[in-house]
Amino acid sequence: MIEIYRNHDFSQVGLYQVMLEDAGIETVLRNRNSVTMTTSVPIPSMYPKICVYTSEDAARARELLAVYAESASAELAADWECAFCGEGNEGNFTECWSCQADCPKWGVSHED
Ligand SMILES: [Zn+2]
Repeated sequence: MIEIYRNHDFSQVGLYQVMLEDAGIETVLRNRNSVTMTTSVPIPSMYPKICVYTSEDAARARELLAVYAESASAELAADWECAFCGEGNEGNFTECWSCQADCPKWGVSHED
């Protein structure tokens, strides 16, 4: 059993597992229930994690996760157009330079 990915956030682990299963990689989810075993101190070894059976699958899975992480950050870095005034903004702007509308991709919870 080879560990591929571990995170305290079960929804992230679940998302990656679905993605790997979709790609035809057989995965096993470990520590699925540890999230409910609440302790005040997080224990990384108890975090939910994704494992695979073979080193071939492990290599493929790591590649897929790397590609996924890259495209996710590329999406955040992409230029965007303000939905309110139509001005173009650079990818790292969290709000429109022209009308200060929040960028939808960053959400509305950014700090002022
Ligand atoms: Zn604007």
